[in-house]
Amino acid sequence: MSVISRKRSLLLPILLIGLLLTVFTGCGKSGGQSMKPGTYEGEAEGMNGPLKVSVKVSEDKIEDIEILSSEETGALTEEVFRQLREGIIGQQGLTCDAVSGASTTTEAYIQAVSDAVVKAGATLKNFKAVKLSLDDGVRIDRTDFDVIVVGAGGAGYSAAITAAENGADVLMLEKMAVTGGNTLISGSAIAAPGNDLQKKEGIEDSADQLYEDILKGGDNKNDPELVRVLADGALPAYEWLRDDLGVKFEDHLLFFGGHSVKRSPVPLGGSGEETIRKMRAKAASLGITVYTGTKATALVKDDAGKVSKVEAEHGGEQHVFTAKKGIVLATGGFGSNLEMRKKYDPSMDEKILSTDSVGTTGDGIQMAEMLGADLVDMQYIQTYPTCHPDTGRLLYVGDVRLMGRGILVNKEGNRFVEELERRDVISKATADQTGGCSYLFWDEDAMKDSKVGSIYKNEYNSLLKAGVLHKADSIEEVAEAAGVDPAQLQKTVDRFNGFAKAGVDEDFHYEKRKPPVAFTEGPYYIMRSKPAVHHTMGGIRINAEAQVLDKDGKPIQGLYAAGETTGHIHGTNRLGSVAIADIVVFGRIAGKGASE
Ligand code: ADP
Repeated sequence: MSVISRKRSLLLPILLIGLLLTVFTGCGKSGGQSMKPGTYEGEAEGMNGPLKVSVKVSEDKIEDIEILSSEETGALTEEVFRQLREGIIGQQGLTCDAVSGASTTTEAYIQAVSDAVVKAGATLKNFKAVKLSLDDGVRIDRTDFDVIVVGAGGAGYSAAITAAENGADVLMLEKMAVTGGNTLISGSAIAAPGNDLQKKEGIEDSADQLYEDILKGGDNKNDPELVRVLADGALPAYEWLRDDLGVKFEDHLLFFGGHSVKRSPVPLGGSGEETIRKMRAKAASLGITVYTGTKATALVKDDAGKVSKVEAEHGGEQHVFTAKKGIVLATGGFGSNLEMRKKYDPSMDEKILSTDSVGTTGDGIQMAEMLGADLVDMQYIQTYPTCHPDTGRLLYVGDVRLMGRGILVNKEGNRFVEELERRDVISKATADQTGGCSYLFWDEDAMKDSKVGSIYKNEYNSLLKAGVLHKADSIEEVAEAAGVDPAQLQKTVDRFNGFAKAGVDEDFHYEKRKPPVAFTEGPYYIMRSKPAVHHTMGGIRINAEAQVLDKDGKPIQGLYAAGETTGHIHGTNRLGSVAIADIVVFGRIAGKGASE
């Protein structure tokens, strides 16, 4: 799902930009074209598949650009496309620095437009050698607000929207060109005990049961007071997303490892796109100011000791923003900050990839620490067990496992862990297998019932193309294609089918969470994956009011924090779908507190 391409070689973008610069440099005039006026189509390869554009040209200008088809992640790329289109038409230039977090998409767009204009007879070197900046649209014309929210992911939006609804004049600062953070590229399912979908399925659940699950899942290292607030607020958080923000949900629930019941609705399309789109729309309707491309660098206290200013950098210039009422830190975790990872857990080194957005670098944690905030649980770093073996991208096609319809085997064809176990347990068990890999196996019935092939169509196609996912008519064929021992896999499947018939998994007791379902006919599927850093449980210590605490446990006046930047809520290990509940519950508490 993620379009993050930080793991891809930087060589290609550099070569491409170099080539474009070489081709375009030396002209500097926009009127040097003699194109045949009309509309032309252009194409280039994007992150997940072909990107097709239609470009309208006059004799010497690009007049309009339209996307004909795109397989890229919508909510991130639509903003990149919008800004590129404005830049290209406004400046008649066709070069751009790759956008951090969407570099492949940026390249593809520029290549596709170039492809079209060449068909119109353009000489590429006659376009201006301007450098498009995706932050050109942002003009910093105000610096004084009631509330400043640093970081525009799910926690930031929840805080900002709540503060604005409480009557505050709100500013959001986002260092990336596009808002959304990790929330945007996440699956975005939310644990919500007692929800409507559970009622339809007759599943009994309660806030108390979620409370117990979160504490147990975190090995009781969590702060029970914070967990209580989270568990009690989870259902209202889901209902707020659904009813107040208009987030649409799929009609099924996901069953994440470590939960005692199936309780997590997932937004339409199975991703954070739907959630972030609705959050953006709500923020816009409330008149919230959003400065993207603006990185907060420090927090400043006033003479009375209240945190009231944020220093930030935009386009190479320094700015100081003032908050009359309060400041919320919502800058996410530090999964993409290798130095911080190694500092707090030396085993989380460069050998382990990450699912995270490139912006997840622990900035808020560092800024708060400078002000004397207490940091907690920093050593607990979670890996997600089934990620792309080469890029670290979280593989949502693997959700067939969470729907209780896939088994994990090793290269030798043997199961080695309970498939609905906690993320840390599965990750650890996977690391011990040959090549540090797991192979997720499922059949056509599971494919149909789980719908992962259609919900995550782009990812599915790109995995097949890349040879990370294999599909074949027989178990033997699919095992051979994936490099798994075919005879042993057949035995494992037969044994699992026996367990399904008896209702008891003698090897790993899968049935304690879900009845095992037998595999039947092909085609069969195998997806290879590896664990990658996904969530950092440690961070800024807060209280139940989301106030940032100092080392003596006293609130630092004017400063609130929410989301992955905080610590001590999830203990040693965060359960799937509890992060979205966390960011909404504490985001809203922080937004309310900061605006009062
Ligand atoms: P959460 O899930 O806690 O909301 P996300 O990762 O979704 O966290 O969002 C955090 C957001 O904060 C990201 O969009 C990230 O780019 C942004 N961010 C991180 N550091 C800074 C910073 N120094 N200034 C502004 N924005 C930041």
